[in-house]
Amino acid sequence: MNTAGSQPPFGPAMHALIAELYPLPRSITGDGVRQTLRALQSVAPLTIHEVPTGTPVFDWTVPNEWNVRQAHVTDARTGRRVVDFADHALHLVGYSTPVRQRMTLADLRPHLHTLPEQPDRIPYRTSYYKPTWGFCLTHRALESLSADTEYDVVIDATLAPGHLTYGELLIPGDTANEILFSAHTCHPQLANDNLSGVVVAAHLARHLAAGPRGRHSFRFVWAPGTIGAITWLARNEPATANIRHGLILSNLGDGRTFTYKRSRRGDAPVDRAVTEILRATGRPHTVLDFSPYGYDERQYCSPGFNLPVGLLSNSQYGTFPEYHTSADDLSLVKPDALEASFRLIQDVVDRLDTSFSRDPKGELQATPEASASATAHSPRYFNLLPKCEPQLGRRGLFSMVGGRTSPKRFELALLWVLNQSDGGPTLAEIATRSALPIDVLTDAARALEAAGLLRRID
Ligand code: ZN
Repeated sequence: MNTAGSQPPFGPAMHALIAELYPLPRSITGDGVRQTLRALQSVAPLTIHEVPTGTPVFDWTVPNEWNVRQAHVTDARTGRRVVDFADHALHLVGYSTPVRQRMTLADLRPHLHTLPEQPDRIPYRTSYYKPTWGFCLTHRALESLSADTEYDVVIDATLAPGHLTYGELLIPGDTANEILFSAHTCHPQLANDNLSGVVVAAHLARHLAAGPRGRHSFRFVWAPGTIGAITWLARNEPATANIRHGLILSNLGDGRTFTYKRSRRGDAPVDRAVTEILRATGRPHTVLDFSPYGYDERQYCSPGFNLPVGLLSNSQYGTFPEYHTSADDLSLVKPDALEASFRLIQDVVDRLDTSFSRDPKGELQATPEASASATAHSPRYFNLLPKCEPQLGRRGLFSMVGGRTSPKRFELALLWVLNQSDGGPTLAEIATRSALPIDVLTDAARALEAAGLLRRID
């Protein structure tokens, strides 16, 4: 099939849809996600799935649903609202528990998050699995708060059994072999991360659904990061056998240059297709090897699935100055950049669909590393929960506050050891691949072993 050719520009329509979705209070659950997915239904005929709270999904459980009616902090003396969720959805820490309390600045201060090095920006913070509450504000606003008054804190929210909501669309092709596109839908009032990916996916879905039938089927998943991808994988495990190629779509609107992160396999057809097409553009771009930190490639590329799924972005997560701050706004994403991302993905789809392989197993063989010989004196481990990441936070192994730019080195080591311990690489080989010190990886392996997540095999 040829999906390119002359088409009207989609960039302005995509940017307008991002602007419509931008203020909705998304999180990993709740009405903001539902409203977002319903708006996408005006673009592509996706199905909205509701998964009840308490549903077990691999090592995780679908959490309570979170919805906020209002949340603010008011100076009790002047009546001035010093922080208000109605002004910006980033002002409230995601999954904050309900609060109604008068308190001193000293008592309030541990609940306030700022970016001292970027004093005019509001940070993005979440605490999905550790019950707490907090507000995010600019550092300048924090500095203007007086210790001579008290503050009335109101978080009028519900955190109760409900559902996790995700969207899905399968566009049938000539065969059951699939190309998967996945975008995370959980970020509130941030434009590049990841409304750009959400909206490019929706327009791509509309375009593919209206075009000639492909040899592959095309599957789109719009789901909250981590828990949503894990939920989709848990409910669709048999269908994953059909996935021949896949792309996580994120940060596709800033236009700074493309970044492609290879799948865990490293040499999957999607890895070759994207890198060749990027090279053919003649423009600067970055190709990164797989690492087990980032977006939902962490789940699709967990060793128990090892799907050929790469990550396509403009700026890479965690590295651009606006990342996870209020500066990731409508001015950061540009119609031309969205259009360029859309067209590049079209080229990738054309390439993959044209080079269709009739051999269903041809692309699914284990990578050579799985049978790599052991290096003497370095242990090898086996991940005992290889399907998706285990929930490290509740075992005290991972920070429970989300949204920060990068994890600690020990946390990265945990992810590397889990992702690579399929009986193939030794700890020494994981050290080379991850560029992490062997002693940190050894500590991580011991902690995972003690938690029952890892077994030493030699
Ligand atoms: Zn993010």
